[in-house]
Amino acid sequence: MISNKLVIEKLPVSKVTGVTSQKAALLQELGVQTVLDLLWLAPSRFEDFRIQPWTEVRDGEKVTLNANIQGVPVLSRYGGKRSRVMARFFSDPISFQAVWFNQPFMQPLLQGSGEWMLTGKWDARLRQLTVSACERMDAGHTSVRAGTVQPVYPLVAGLTQGWVRKVMQIALEKFATHAVEWIPEEWLARLGLLGISDAFVGLHQPRDHAHGQAARKRFAYEECFMFQSRLFASKQANKKTGEGIAMSIDREAVRHMVLELPFKLTTGQKYVIKDILEDLEAPSIMQRLLQGDVGSGKTVVAAVAAYAAFTADAQSAFMVPTELLAEQQARAMKKFLQPHGVEVALLTGSTTERNRRELLAGLQLGLIHVLIGTHALIQDDVHFRKLGFVVIDEQHRFGVQQRATLREKGLAPDVLTMTATPIPRTLAITIWGDLDVSTLREKPAGRQPIETFWLRHDQLMSAIQRVKESLSEGRQLYVICPLIEESEMLDVQNAVDTQIQFQQALSSYVVGLLHGRLTNAEKEGVMRQFVDGTIHALVSTTVVEVGVDVPNATEMIILDSDRFGLSQLHQLRGRVGRGIHRSRCWLIADPKSENGKQRMQAMTDTEDGFEIARRDLELRGPGDYFGTKQSGIPTFRFVDVLLDAGIMEQARDDVADLWRDGKIWTDPQFSELRGRMNALQIVEQRMKD
Ligand code: ADP
Ligand code: MG
Repeated sequence: MISNKLVIEKLPVSKVTGVTSQKAALLQELGVQTVLDLLWLAPSRFEDFRIQPWTEVRDGEKVTLNANIQGVPVLSRYGGKRSRVMARFFSDPISFQAVWFNQPFMQPLLQGSGEWMLTGKWDARLRQLTVSACERMDAGHTSVRAGTVQPVYPLVAGLTQGWVRKVMQIALEKFATHAVEWIPEEWLARLGLLGISDAFVGLHQPRDHAHGQAARKRFAYEECFMFQSRLFASKQANKKTGEGIAMSIDREAVRHMVLELPFKLTTGQKYVIKDILEDLEAPSIMQRLLQGDVGSGKTVVAAVAAYAAFTADAQSAFMVPTELLAEQQARAMKKFLQPHGVEVALLTGSTTERNRRELLAGLQLGLIHVLIGTHALIQDDVHFRKLGFVVIDEQHRFGVQQRATLREKGLAPDVLTMTATPIPRTLAITIWGDLDVSTLREKPAGRQPIETFWLRHDQLMSAIQRVKESLSEGRQLYVICPLIEESEMLDVQNAVDTQIQFQQALSSYVVGLLHGRLTNAEKEGVMRQFVDGTIHALVSTTVVEVGVDVPNATEMIILDSDRFGLSQLHQLRGRVGRGIHRSRCWLIADPKSENGKQRMQAMTDTEDGFEIARRDLELRGPGDYFGTKQSGIPTFRFVDVLLDAGIMEQARDDVADLWRDGKIWTDPQFSELRGRMNALQIVEQRMKD
């Protein structure tokens, strides 16, 4: 039997009285095709047209008044389409001026006497109301909005608020009340969710704020549930196909290689390596995210995994976002791997044509085992003999695109994505539900904490004095500035000036300069001098942001640090505190905004990358935090990935329960849900078996 619920899902929106084919086309631009889509079209906000007494009216705020016309409306035009209608009104006991901007048609409507509802912004000093909405209220006029709270819908040209409200009202009466519930009674109670009909009403015409919130929560849960079901189904399908490579790793050789590392692995590193090796040996495709704070030692994990792949006769690719980083990772990988007969090569945009040809040939023949480079290394004319393992490092974009590229090339290597911008576990599940997540919580032993200070610009000299103590002990310094060759608009110090300024202040030391306008060879030269200690202090833009590893550098001064985001500051700070010496970070900023102050405060409060990430998300919101839509984060209608992390986790557990016990297939109380998932083609895969 097909339920009403499914009918609503399939029923075209034109079945709602008043929706002509022309209007239906316009609604489609809003993503509305079916009656259910229409009911899901949530108001972006509500407009309050409840009449207020003067005692509640506040200067500069929006008010709704009930008032009578007192004077003759006056229209003034001033150039182009700009105009103003002014009229005197009386609302007991105050007489005031009402103003309509650019609505000349209001003048004739305001002639004569009459009672009106006026909504607008109140200016107490001028005794003036700038009207944004109005409606005639005296006898003979039916006022629709006065005294009510009205939903405000997203619109496209050709649709009006009034029309959408009317159509929604019809849809609510005719369809929402008959909607069939797919969540079993028992679950609704357990989760404290509204039933479906009540939730539709709450979405569009909430009795109060709490009702509206509860409605959203119910639909957010629905969305999370379906999202997690999809992830679960695709993961199951993925496991079954087993199209990945099952490597036969020489475990004994790996153990040997680990013993020969220059340090002992932390317990966390050992666990992560164990998981990765098991994934490599399994026939399914590994999709694992390794998140670990800056300096937690992710590179060596990747190196051991690449070595394991090598023992199974598989090649590895190591993708990093910048050339500078690629060079550094290549150095690290060579150090770890070359003693064990692994051939490591570097491929970047500045590899000469001759070297490139040679390298590509070696790769195709399998003479090169590990290739490191920027993202171009899995594209173009790069052919591996047998690519088995891919590492995507410091990738804020989550490697979604890269995975797609690999698949397009018909390759199915195991993929490890490493990120130093750890995010809360709940959020990781939300976004990477189809990835396994490993976390490096501890840092290698012997790491010194980083002391962080926040100083004003006029205290910079005192910071420099303190830094000099460290320099005299042989340590090194980073000075970070926000921009190079500033745009006229932003008054930021540029790196060139800063270098001169610091060279003066630190006259007995060599102060180097690194910025994005240098050629790669120049950058590399400067970095090499910093690594070998001929440069004592390095003034740099954010090109040193990720991954640079100079353990002897223990001091960092970040100028105009309020110009950086919190995660970025944490990344930068992670360049120090990498050796055995005490480290310090000096934030120089006079933030004007509250947000800026909070960022500085967060940095001095904690060194924990997870805590920093949490606060960053809080301050910025997920949209900003993850960048644009390209980040591969699903877009939701009702779910706020940050605030609703709890709901997402709940849904994930519920989905796992249902599928694990097979309840979804047998239990009659889930028949509605089954039908719904069928309609969304979520269970298709399973049905094929
Ligand atoms: P990140 O996770 O930020 O990429 P790295 O991999 O660059 O961190 O590691 C930071 C530094 O710590 C490197 O110099 C690395 O060689 C070193 N390191 C990694 N693991 C350990 C360990 N178990 N013990 C001591 N030092 C380690
Ligand atoms: Mg790293």
